[in-house]
Amino acid sequence: MSKLVPPHGSDTLRPLLLPEVERADEAARAGSLKCVSMSSRELSDLLILGMGAYTPLDGFMGHDDWRGACEDMRLASGVFWPIPITLSCTPDLADSIAVGETVALASGETGERLGTLRVREKYRIDPKLECERVYGTTDEAHPGVQKVLAQPPVNLAGRVSVFSESNWPAAFPSLYLHPAQSRAMFQERGWSRVAAFQTRNPMHRSHEYLAKIAIEVTDGVFIHQVLGRLKPGDIPASVRTRAIQAMIVNYFVPGTVIQAGYPIEMRYAGPREALLHALIRQNFGCSHLIVGRDHAGVGNYYGPHDAQHIFNELWDGALLTRPLKMDNTFFCRRCDGMATGRTCPHGKEHHVAISGTRQREMLSGGESIPPEFSRPEVVAILEEFYAGQATSA
Ligand SMILES: [Zn+2]
Repeated sequence: MSKLVPPHGSDTLRPLLLPEVERADEAARAGSLKCVSMSSRELSDLLILGMGAYTPLDGFMGHDDWRGACEDMRLASGVFWPIPITLSCTPDLADSIAVGETVALASGETGERLGTLRVREKYRIDPKLECERVYGTTDEAHPGVQKVLAQPPVNLAGRVSVFSESNWPAAFPSLYLHPAQSRAMFQERGWSRVAAFQTRNPMHRSHEYLAKIAIEVTDGVFIHQVLGRLKPGDIPASVRTRAIQAMIVNYFVPGTVIQAGYPIEMRYAGPREALLHALIRQNFGCSHLIVGRDHAGVGNYYGPHDAQHIFNELWDGALLTRPLKMDNTFFCRRCDGMATGRTCPHGKEHHVAISGTRQREMLSGGESIPPEFSRPEVVAILEEFYAGQATSA
């Protein structure tokens, strides 16, 4: 009997990736079906449905689930759900598709077909309502809002079957874990309380400190990278993974950390997205999610602690995975150690803080990063990467 937190809203995980023996047949069938092109966000959601991290969903949401998720953070069944998971489609294509028909789902960028959808429902949404409720704004400058407003106006709902994860497992061989796999790893180690730490950056002292605070109160930390599309200036996943591994090997007790990643596309919905990230982690078997300042935020749309406070607004049993609420962390020269806003009484002038932009400048300009900010083993890997970029440019 597993001591791990159970999957969300279900006794068992519900992966929608077909068993290996059925994939070739479904792929062949999909070749002759009408085809819906997915945005990169929709494709990311399909992969997450496939691996079972959106348990208990069986596909893209219908109208009632969409509205419930937006307005009350509940599916029509009553199960907690903070952000709609939907598939959009142009009106012309939607008109040509009958309810009950099965369509193929393809990457809008490459055309590669990855799954099928048996259409249960076609409906239109009020995108402004989704933006207001989920993102707290209808400002088109918000990157998540922009995508909702830009999507075609009809949604297709229904059960999906995934027959390919494309090149994801091969591109991230040691990182791309399904929830069933992470759960098996936790059980093997005898863990029951596991804290997830989400990152899309190499980890510096401040991140290391957060992970270590979590280890003090749980059995282990699941360092869970955001895999996928990079923004300009981002460090490639392979370099990031090596840098994180250097930190783990040199500064953590063996057996207290597992590094992995998942194919989510960030919506930057701040508080609502923190809830979705926690829900996903429940499916991965994590009892806790580290929620720092402005988790999943962007610009100044959300207050620094909004993503922490929203967990207090949920009803009992909505979500079993709990937040580990953390303040900003830094090295303080007066404290002579790592500290947070809750533990250090000194002014900012005593703190070692380097912005992401400044860090990139320092690394590519050959300036040395102080060991109070980042471990030398981590810095060496980043320096090597930036040096390579300079010679290839
Ligand atoms: Zn201090």
